[in-house]
Amino acid sequence: MTRPTLAIAYDFDGTLSPGSMQEHSFIPEIGEEKAAFWARVNGEAARLGADNILIYMHEMVKAAQREEKRFRREDIERHGQRIGFFPGVADGWFKRLRDHGDGLGVNVQHFIISSGLKEMVRASRIGHEFDAIFASEFKYNADDVPVWAASAVNYTNKTQFLFRINKGALDLADHSAVNRYIPEDERPVPFRNMIYIGDGDTDVPCMRTVKEQGGVSIAVHPAGDADGAAKTAGLKAERRVHFTADADYSDGSALDAYVRAAIDKMAAVERLKALEKG
Ligand SMILES: [Mg+2]
Repeated sequence: MTRPTLAIAYDFDGTLSPGSMQEHSFIPEIGEEKAAFWARVNGEAARLGADNILIYMHEMVKAAQREEKRFRREDIERHGQRIGFFPGVADGWFKRLRDHGDGLGVNVQHFIISSGLKEMVRASRIGHEFDAIFASEFKYNADDVPVWAASAVNYTNKTQFLFRINKGALDLADHSAVNRYIPEDERPVPFRNMIYIGDGDTDVPCMRTVKEQGGVSIAVHPAGDADGAAKTAGLKAERRVHFTADADYSDGSALDAYVRAAIDKMAAVERLKALEKG
């Protein structure tokens, strides 16, 4: 008998890591204030009626050229290595939950769904923890220099990756698997076995999808951030999430308790279903 799989899907910026991944070392390296960089991105996107994600990717390439900074795949990875994390994230969170699931007879898998850059997430200290990383990506030439956008993940297309996890269609090149009809109960990761953790704005469609389909959604904010706490409280009042919590991934934190309780419940439902089948 195969063990049931539980999936925890995370937003990245503001959820696992403070701020945006470009702010940790890329924006300082091009000698710009982060507010100025994002104002230019948002201004260009508004002026052109363009997608913010495609514009930030283009602005990264242009800024690096303008400042004569190297910006190849390995440089993007170098910036990924410098990303800092909220308490507990790089300190055993992912393994602890896999172990917790093991004790209950379920596989716990971790996934990233981010508008940031896949290379940066993968090269970060926690990149090896994920069963898949869904994020924006450059197309590179033979010298590993970005020449085009290969994929741009924005808030509305983020939800497609939940369905890929749900149907086990993790290969983006496979267009048939994600659209194939599979009864909910036969899907590799039913929505009732999904937990989504995000920090807000770009996560609302994912939070709602997971919650409405029977999974658990959680909104996090930095500890001590009153504005962030007000934002997540709003998401809970609007019933988009079950829980709000400080972005504290340490053993014994409130977030740890919510996620463990969700895993306990999901594992118990799976045991009951197995008994029912006989
Ligand atoms: Mg975020």
